[in-house]
Amino acid sequence: MGELNKKVVIVGGGITGLAAAFYMQKEAREKGLPLDVLLVEATNRLGGKIQTIRRSGFIIERGPDSFLIRKKSFGILAEDLGIEKELVRNSTGQAYILLNKTLHPIPPGSVMGIPTQLGPFVTSGLFTLGGKLRAAGDLFLPRSGIKEDQSLGVFFRRRFGSEVVENLIEPLLSGIYAGDLDKLSLNSTFPQFKEVEEENRSLILGMKKTTPKKVPQKEGYGAKREGVFHTFRNGLETVVEALEEQLEKNSVMKNVRVNQIDKAGEKTVLTLNNGQTIEADAVIMTTAHEVVRKLFKPHGLLTELQDMPSTTVATVAMAFPEESIVQDREGTGFLVSRNSDYAITACTWTNRKWPTTTPDGKVLIRSYVGRSGDESIVSLSDSDIEQIVLTDLRKVMEIKEDPEFTIVSRWKEGMPQYVVGHRERLEAARVEIAKQFPNVKLAGASYEGVGLPDCINQGKAAMEEVLEALF
Ligand code: FAD
Repeated sequence: MGELNKKVVIVGGGITGLAAAFYMQKEAREKGLPLDVLLVEATNRLGGKIQTIRRSGFIIERGPDSFLIRKKSFGILAEDLGIEKELVRNSTGQAYILLNKTLHPIPPGSVMGIPTQLGPFVTSGLFTLGGKLRAAGDLFLPRSGIKEDQSLGVFFRRRFGSEVVENLIEPLLSGIYAGDLDKLSLNSTFPQFKEVEEENRSLILGMKKTTPKKVPQKEGYGAKREGVFHTFRNGLETVVEALEEQLEKNSVMKNVRVNQIDKAGEKTVLTLNNGQTIEADAVIMTTAHEVVRKLFKPHGLLTELQDMPSTTVATVAMAFPEESIVQDREGTGFLVSRNSDYAITACTWTNRKWPTTTPDGKVLIRSYVGRSGDESIVSLSDSDIEQIVLTDLRKVMEIKEDPEFTIVSRWKEGMPQYVVGHRERLEAARVEIAKQFPNVKLAGASYEGVGLPDCINQGKAAMEEVLEALF
């Protein structure tokens, strides 16, 4: 570390912080920049929400299990790390919506719940005749003309009515955010739907135009198509291990928390929980926004982040011997409609979707519990959660004996919610912080996309901004 080098501190060692550190060191090496990068992580491990457990031949993800291939940054990172050969694609198959006690196939041709083929919608058991007729109203309704941000619920209910929203669109979309459709911002989550309405008026006709035809009717949604997700053969944590290995020596501090942030002239001073202080020329904050808000509160900054809630969820992975499960349904899993009396919100038949995760002769099932406004289940004991999940699963499949083992992973305030007005709130926060701390950047899941590729993009963008400001 050179005396005269510029110093950049990255706070938080999740995928955002790791990507920022990796690419910043790469740039510094390639361009010969006099730069020291230090990543500070509060826990004793890197990866943040990416956590893989490898146990008895199973590969179990506590948090995220894969990423969308279409969003390129993760694949590029894998190539940059030389681990792209370890990537595996998901197996596709029928996915269902659980409504009351029935698993209904997701109608073929539905794109994020929006019909692009009318036949399968008309025959689907997910909706009443009245619900179907109301949804067809989309074909005739004018554009809303609403310019300002609105909730996904308001937007979709206007076009399709409540039934299609609650029994199909909501489970599909809110699965990504564990959120409440009536609060989530259209502009910050799925702005493409607003554009489709603006351009085509009808969402059905607009989505039909942009969606490839020939989804096989018989096998249903997603069948016979290529999987659209990637993970690594040995679990998502492969990327964290590669990043940790390739980050420069002495550029990571684990088990130390940033407790305070102050200004000293042009520099930013970070105080750690071990009493140490670090002077930085620039800082990239990649922790959840709640942590950022608390750190800048003494400076009277970032109060608007207070209006940004997060949802608490848990994943529950259960391992069984094959013979103890009778699964007469083909497919990869199901999402649960809020209109049904279940604690689980989603379930993946992981051994089918990701065959590399499960040894021969075994079954791996991963369920989700906790959703916006209904999170108390997550604070129950592991064994209580296990029993509740088993009771729910037994309503839809025969489970002859309890699992060989169960792993419950809690994510307290783990899902940031982009509620209506998110973009404006974020913009105001950035303007405000830039006035007092021009070289402090905010990046990560709380801001511009929760998906892993979005986080990588944000880490990269923040490091580019910092380099631009410093050199
Ligand atoms: P984090 O991973 O939360 O990292 C922040 C880091 O900051 C943590 O390591 C934390 O310990 C550290 N930190 C906090 N405070 C301090 C401090 N004061 N000082 C120093 N360090 C601190 N996305 C997908 O693309 N695909 C999926 O399949 C998917 N599934 C998901 C399933 C679950 C259950 C959850 C919770 C999320 C899922 N996501 C998924 C979203 C994705 O996992 C996250 O958005 C992403 O991992 C967030 O990365 P991050 O680096 O922004 O934050």
